[in-house]
Amino acid sequence: MAKQSPAPNWQDLALGCATLEAGSSRYQKTGDWRSSRPIWNFEQCVKCGVCTVFCPEGCLKMNADGYPQVDLDYCKGCAICVTECWTGCISMEEEKD
Ligand code: SF4
Ligand code: SF4
Repeated sequence: MAKQSPAPNWQDLALGCATLEAGSSRYQKTGDWRSSRPIWNFEQCVKCGVCTVFCPEGCLKMNADGYPQVDLDYCKGCAICVTECWTGCISMEEEKD
């Protein structure tokens, strides 16, 4: 049986598309990974802002009308906002393309 080589130390890993400079994460369009997107039923939304607090990408902000608004360039479709919305007004829709 062939001997397995040991796993490399993290310092020995090749540099890839890591975030190396402060503020450079804005150039990584994480929305490209998304297979489904959140959609809102604004008739049910009470404008509490809870979903915006839990979004791990920081791509969910309250708009001028007080409703949450998603920046799809960075939304990964993780559905945490769906889980955290206590009124159940967010659901996920599969991406068409
Ligand atoms: S699906 Fe995930 S990344 Fe997108 S808005 Fe909701 S919490 Fe944020
Ligand atoms: S958590 Fe739900 S009810 Fe509250 S702002 Fe977000 S979508 Fe609206």
